[in-house]
Amino acid sequence: MTRKARNRRRWIAAAAVAALAVVAVVVTVAAVSPGAAPPAARPATRPLAHPRRAARRTPLVLPSPLSRRVVHIPILMYHRIGPLAVSLPAITRALTVPPRTFAAEMRWLAGHGYQAITQKQLFGALEHGVPLPRRPVMITFDDGYRDVLWNAAPVLARLHFPATAYVVTGRVSGRDPSFFTWPQLRTLERLGVEVGSHTVHHVELPRLSDSAALAELTASRRALEAHLGHPVQWFAYPAGREDLRIVRLLVRAGYVLAVTTQPGSLQSAAAPFLLHRYEVLDTTGVRGVAAFVGG
Ligand SMILES: [Zn+2]
Repeated sequence: MTRKARNRRRWIAAAAVAALAVVAVVVTVAAVSPGAAPPAARPATRPLAHPRRAARRTPLVLPSPLSRRVVHIPILMYHRIGPLAVSLPAITRALTVPPRTFAAEMRWLAGHGYQAITQKQLFGALEHGVPLPRRPVMITFDDGYRDVLWNAAPVLARLHFPATAYVVTGRVSGRDPSFFTWPQLRTLERLGVEVGSHTVHHVELPRLSDSAALAELTASRRALEAHLGHPVQWFAYPAGREDLRIVRLLVRAGYVLAVTTQPGSLQSAAAPFLLHRYEVLDTTGVRGVAAFVGG
């Protein structure tokens, strides 16, 4: 064998090892990511090959009558996770948690025995009494800012913490680069962050007629399901504005859980569309988060 041929062989062997390593990492990430569902990225038209996966994708149905259970589950609401630039408008600043602070908050939760749960776990615990981890907490992000993908999802994946991002579907893959694209949402789901609806246009629903509000609810859900390839039944009210008329429309639109901006951690199975949340701001910090989940 010539020296050139030997070098070439070595190079091919090294490339093969590198390729295997990449496959191993991808498989490991997929295996350890909490709530990671590899089929989530498949287009809606693709047939479901595995019966167990098909079963998992069946839409959830609320029991009738609803359970009367009350469960202590703090739900945290974040918006942006990014650097606090001085140039940011005051409102944006307040809604932005620096990546280091976010990581410290998540590490504090994990270090104190808290385990983040999925929407399905919340649904099961509320409506059917399915046991939860001893200290459950739910992590949510509103509005669909893409900095969640860079600055929050990796931290959450390392801690095996699932989370939910409620997105405004009219902004996805739009002109404003602050918001997610559809491929990014699929990546986000693979990292363990589920996607829920926050309407199409981020409008205050009680201001709308029945038909206009219902259109916001159904069109956003349909768009998410078409792009993500599985049922999407979680909702967050824009600006936290809700009333019982809108709750009835959520039922009609096929949702099963909705979060408000009313603080509190006692969640009632009889009111699955009025779940309480604590808003985490730039000034909240580890102490504030600790007070929320302990209170
Ligand atoms: Zn919002």
